[in-house]
Amino acid sequence: MGMRKIEHIGIAVRDLEAANDLYEKLLGEPPYKMEEVASEGVRTSFFRSGPNKIELLEATSADSPIARYLEKRGEGIHHIAFDVADIRAEMQRLKEAGFTILSEEPKRGADNKLVAFLHPKGTHGVLVELCQEIS
Ligand code: ZN
Repeated sequence: MGMRKIEHIGIAVRDLEAANDLYEKLLGEPPYKMEEVASEGVRTSFFRSGPNKIELLEATSADSPIARYLEKRGEGIHHIAFDVADIRAEMQRLKEAGFTILSEEPKRGADNKLVAFLHPKGTHGVLVELCQEIS
């Protein structure tokens, strides 16, 4: 089955309101959704550009993964998310192919998705997210 398409690109930002204003100016439309994922310490907003999506991520606590990312690397592209039909099957396939997956089980992410991440050390520096729409 594999990765069906790029579902969205995630961008880490320090100030979600300011970034929302800027991306609205850039893309010509406001975000269609804003959502906090308390378990991940993140607040997100989602924009559409034609068939594609951009996710902005702001940390809500100092120990959230986004806060640590911003501290180390500053603002910028944080991850690329791929749409998958069966996230558990894909996690198994990728594990067998030698990738390091950051969690044993998929987690509940923003935008009604189950998500899992691959360690960027095994993907040439890119944090890869798998996401499956929750039906
Ligand atoms: Zn994402």
